Amino acid sequence: MIETIQIPLLSDNYSYIIRDKNTNITGCIDPSVAKDIVNVLQNRGIDLNFILNTHHHQDHVGGNQELKEIYNCKIIGCYDDQNRIPGIDIKLKDSEQFNIGESVFEVIYTPGHTIGHICFYFKDQNLLFCGDTIFSLGCGRLFEGSYEQMTESILKIRSLPDCTKIFCGHEYTESNGKFAEFLDSRDDLLKKKILNIKKDRLKSKPTIPAILEEEKKLNPFMKFDNQEYLDSIKIENISNVENFKKIRIMKDNF
Ligand SMILES: [Zn+2]
Repeated sequence: MIETIQIPLLSDNYSYIIRDKNTNITGCIDPSVAKDIVNVLQNRGIDLNFILNTHHHQDHVGGNQELKEIYNCKIIGCYDDQNRIPGIDIKLKDSEQFNIGESVFEVIYTPGHTIGHICFYFKDQNLLFCGDTIFSLGCGRLFEGSYEQMTESILKIRSLPDCTKIFCGHEYTESNGKFAEFLDSRDDLLKKKILNIKKDRLKSKPTIPAILEEEKKLNPFMKFDNQEYLDSIKIENISNVENFKKIRIMKDNF
């Protein structure tokens, strides 16, 4: 079993320490900076064996080198991004499996936000670490990939079990909620969700992890093929990619 420790970093990033309870083998997902990670590890008296990077952006890999120097840990990233992940040792491709102690994850290749973006999926425990592909009520901006790629990537995530816990790279939920509400102000479930988000954020509580079942109902970027939703937000149903593209461009300009 994996224990997950969620660490807020910088202004709105999340890094995650994942510890396999049986073996104490530990990984850190997307360390933007080293210092806070070191503090948490030291306070709990745990070592660091792996760094797992979802993609190459500085706010996800910024702590790689320093942590590697301190802990001599191995750095895991996407095979296609081996020239952009600082200190990479283990280069994984889509569907490859890897063990953190006795806990196994599968790589899900999700290009769109960047070309070499991957997610780490612990199937047995229904945990998904998805970087900047999907956020609660939102999705990553398309910096490198195409709309086709991002649509495919989101469909891959959407096909996972409803109970999947989604650990994403940023606390963007409150601002994403404003856009979701702008699109569809009549959704009572969304209104309720937004009220809860506001309550949590007032207390500086994280809104992450998100639950896939809820995202499928409320996240505009998971509903690009839902006719009822498209009708209510007045978008003509052309194709998954065209519908997704329209919603993404609206968000970019929101
Ligand atoms: Zn990013």
